[in-house]
Amino acid sequence: MRSGRTYFIADLHLTDERPVATGRFFRFLEEEAKGADALYILGDLFEAWIGDDHDEQVAHDTARRLKSLADTGTPIFFMPGNRDFMLAKVYARRSGMTLIPDPTRINLYGTATLLMHGDTLCIDDVAYQTFRRRIRHPFMLGLLRRLPFSWRRKMASQARAGSESAKASKSSDIMDVNIKAVERSLRTHHAQRLIHGHTHRPAKHIHLLDGQECERWVVPDWYIRWGYVLCDGHGCALKAEPLFTEPPEHKIASNQGQ
Ligand code: MN
Repeated sequence: MRSGRTYFIADLHLTDERPVATGRFFRFLEEEAKGADALYILGDLFEAWIGDDHDEQVAHDTARRLKSLADTGTPIFFMPGNRDFMLAKVYARRSGMTLIPDPTRINLYGTATLLMHGDTLCIDDVAYQTFRRRIRHPFMLGLLRRLPFSWRRKMASQARAGSESAKASKSSDIMDVNIKAVERSLRTHHAQRLIHGHTHRPAKHIHLLDGQECERWVVPDWYIRWGYVLCDGHGCALKAEPLFTEPPEHKIASNQGQ
């Protein structure tokens, strides 16, 4: 058992259709994450989530695996992403996860650290931000939750197809974070460090803010790679490893499917 470390993961996009990523995630829970101070899931754990009655096998298996990690004493925190913002109390309870809002500021081994999924930083994508404001409005969420399961499933697959085709015509720049939005978030929350996902562009960035160096860590997605950001009292590190030992038959662009 190692201690004094905290893991940050995001953009696993788990689905029954990508069993290799699911298998690696379950190993991660049993090996790396075991005994950690905490595990933070910063959104898009699932490829799609239409409600806590979501019926994919991966949803049931993931709940069981998360719960057994939580039961060994590692707290798990879940922040909703743009794919799984419908994940709510019922599933969180089953999985032993604590829901946290986006953004959340934590004291991480003495450093004020801001956690976000990352989509709210992509303000240059005006069409997406408009869509996000509408769909995440409490009234709309309440309405969505009351719809029959089959309707929600159909709407989710239509929304995904729509977002895939919209993304194809968007420039790569507008799908990345806006630096002004990053700096505003760090300032507003008086944070020295930001950890987020969503863009599928794992990296460490340094932002000079009012003469002070702030770190921004972008957590890797789990499409053709897997990984995490790991922090302890000395700082953070990024890990990203190939998911497949052999190249997949159909190569998926690494920035696919935000
Ligand atoms: Mn996302």
